Amino acid sequence: MYGWTGRILIVDLTNRREHILEPEKEYYEKFIGGKGLSGLFLREYITREWDDPEMPLIFMTGPLVNTASPTSGMLSIMSKSPLTGTVGDGIVGGKLGTMIKRAGYDGIIFTGKSHAKIGISINEEGVKYSDASGFADCSASEIHESIGDGCSTACTGQAAENGVLFSSIVVDGCCVAGRNGLGLVMASKNLKFMKVSGDKETKVYDSKLLEKAQEEIFRLTNASPALMGEFGISNFGTGTFYDLISSRRMMPTDNFRKTYFEHSDSMNAYIYKTKYKTENSGCAGCGINCWQTGENGESIPEYDSMAHFSALVMNSDLETVMKADKICTETGMDPVSAAATISAYMEISGDKISSDKLLSILKDIAFSKDEGEKLKKGSYRYAKDVGKEHASMTVKNMEIPAYDPRGAYGMALGYAVSARGACHLRAFPISHEILRKPVATDRFSFSGKARIIKISEDINAVVDSLTACKFIFFNATLEEYAKAFTAVTGVEISAQDLMKAGERIDYNERYMNSLNGFDANDDDLPDRFFNEEGSSTETIKVKPLNRKEFLDERAAYYRVRELDEEGRPVDNKLKSLGLI
Ligand code: SF4
Repeated sequence: MYGWTGRILIVDLTNRREHILEPEKEYYEKFIGGKGLSGLFLREYITREWDDPEMPLIFMTGPLVNTASPTSGMLSIMSKSPLTGTVGDGIVGGKLGTMIKRAGYDGIIFTGKSHAKIGISINEEGVKYSDASGFADCSASEIHESIGDGCSTACTGQAAENGVLFSSIVVDGCCVAGRNGLGLVMASKNLKFMKVSGDKETKVYDSKLLEKAQEEIFRLTNASPALMGEFGISNFGTGTFYDLISSRRMMPTDNFRKTYFEHSDSMNAYIYKTKYKTENSGCAGCGINCWQTGENGESIPEYDSMAHFSALVMNSDLETVMKADKICTETGMDPVSAAATISAYMEISGDKISSDKLLSILKDIAFSKDEGEKLKKGSYRYAKDVGKEHASMTVKNMEIPAYDPRGAYGMALGYAVSARGACHLRAFPISHEILRKPVATDRFSFSGKARIIKISEDINAVVDSLTACKFIFFNATLEEYAKAFTAVTGVEISAQDLMKAGERIDYNERYMNSLNGFDANDDDLPDRFFNEEGSSTETIKVKPLNRKEFLDERAAYYRVRELDEEGRPVDNKLKSLGLI
């Protein structure tokens, strides 16, 4: 095969045995790679508990990884989420995807459970197991520094050791597969770290054609102000969204009780850039390079962390945001869920907390101490335990990121129907509602949003299966990526074919959720968004969402997605997509 290696490494941690799976090419063509293939392998196990030893933990690359195709160094990690009970996945950058491919595999699937804490080294020669008990108290960067040495790594930090339900898997000591608690799944298998290296090349079917596709993609990337312009993410990182979202009055503030933070002018990406004198860098094979690092090596937070550790928890100290974000990365916790759980705690307790207290609560969560013992379960379980569920700003028990849904109705629908809980990346409506790409839509209207969300979900599902970076799709499209796909794999495919694969991959996720009883009752938003206004200005009125309009558009989404009225997959559609 070209593009794909045709080999998936299965590691049975219980017996410390491994074997190679060689799926039929048909499966590769239907499910592409990354998230798509992961979902195919997860489905058989999805009704088990997340910590059942047989529950697989899947690391999967895509066909374009380790080729010249732009921004294709991402990796999908998937299992069942301990936080939500839904399918749980994360897309992560760094070098791990590329290294897995260079070691000769399309993916690695861990099953079983080791009897003791272990680390695993994987390269072209094979798999080695080592005692990892000495790493239990180490931070993610300590583990990476100690074992990295020319390899790419994935590990868990102290949060997963201490049962935090939103624990992350940290790649290369700095990139985080954060949402959904996949770190806890890894910890439940007693797998402390994985290190991967290799030198194998990925076979490309037609290098000349790939060069052409690459040129087209780079031309579009370079023409995008949002990516490469003066205020684009190449220059400011995703933090560039801070001012944009603040000026639209959709910055979640004080646990979503307001949508404007009065200190936002002193907490934006420009301030980080000037204070820390940042340089940019990025994932393997990326020309955008959105990572921002200060002159002393400080890692500048991504937008969601920047926003939630300031506005959401009412903190106006920049250094505290930096420290909070670092605690999350080092201990392996999702910053969105961590910040939103603390903001729910603040609302429930009525406390305005100091910077020191914010940082000490975060550490308490990671180390399961004092209040942290309750908060480590996430805001929904915490709020429910104290009888204040209204303070949990979650969908399917997962905390909402830093875009208030009252300021972007497509985002409201996208959060509600997302298969993994409140996620802005499944449909990424910010693209059309705020960045006005590929066309502008009215952010204060539900009209037409059902169809747009469905199409965007399909596109993003296939992007996460190609394991390309979503940001590049601000300007490039599946047209260019279909050409790159054909050039790499030799499989003739159109953008429409890729969209169909995306539909299949997305529907499969809804199917997995339905097998665990998820339906329309779970595709909903917290009451606050239907009952309380945001922070308006004279020209921007941030009204509560209209419940009837929301439900009508959700029903329209179910029709467009070809689900039943309760949001469940139907047999005809499952059959037509080849899922049953
Ligand atoms: S744009 Fe950023 S996240 Fe995307 S591939 Fe490049 S560095 Fe990685």
